[in-house]
Amino acid sequence: MFDFKNKVVIVTGGTRGIGLEIVKIFSENGAKVVLFGSRKETVDKALKVLEDEGLKVKGYYPNLMDFNSVDEVIKKIYDEYGRIDVLVNNAGISANKKIEDTTQKDFEDIMNLNVNAIFNTSKSVVPYMKRQKFGVILNTSSMVSIYGQPSGVGYPASKFAVNGITKSLARELSPFNIRVNAVAPGIINTDMISSLPKEIIEPLIKKIPLGRIGEPRDVANAFLFLASDMASYITGVILQVDGAASN
Ligand code: NAD
Repeated sequence: MFDFKNKVVIVTGGTRGIGLEIVKIFSENGAKVVLFGSRKETVDKALKVLEDEGLKVKGYYPNLMDFNSVDEVIKKIYDEYGRIDVLVNNAGISANKKIEDTTQKDFEDIMNLNVNAIFNTSKSVVPYMKRQKFGVILNTSSMVSIYGQPSGVGYPASKFAVNGITKSLARELSPFNIRVNAVAPGIINTDMISSLPKEIIEPLIKKIPLGRIGEPRDVANAFLFLASDMASYITGVILQVDGAASN
């Protein structure tokens, strides 16, 4: 167990998959967790799942692609709790269309959520983290940020950008005792993967050196470690959690 008592943690895309597991693990370890989702219904559903497991979590649904919408909700959280310790930027969408079939809008939608939203949430929390001289920002990257992928160019492009934001903000914010890291998951058992064609996914799983698909808890464990004091000298790192799939 890690001690996150009195720590306030925000998780975007916290309603299902990897994000929901991140919410659970921080909550189980004593944190006050606030999850963000895209709509009221999915947020309410996630809060009910958590409540049934005995976990008390709050939820909001700001438009992550709009700075003012994000900033208003983050101010509300700060006013209520008096601090914001950890921001986990996890919300993301993927793509797998060939470039000829990808529209400009498809490309922009990916960039808006996977990249611009991280800018918005990070810009909003940094003044609070600077004031309290402590903070951790964690981003969900992907193993495709190591070597790209054969179709759906917007997705790896967005995750290369996530790594760039991570490494740059780590340098910019280190003087303020704010650490910034990313976790790069491999193939993880969530809706994002089950929506992909079997003929694409199955051969990839067969090639994973650890011999299995990753579970959301495998990834959540890495987030918990990176947010904890055990990682106090770790910043600017892209931690691969992929069973060596990207090696
Ligand atoms: P998922 O589709 O199960 O969950 C995505 C989350 O993002 C949901 O909580 C959803 O509410 C949120 N989201 C989607 N669109 C949104 C929007 N417009 N506004 C606000 N929130 C929105 O996916 P997942 O597999 O749990 O993925 C979570 C993160 O992990 C993503 O950043 C993804 O790129 C990354 N990732 C996943 C895998 C994998 O194999 N599953 C691998 C590498 C990286």
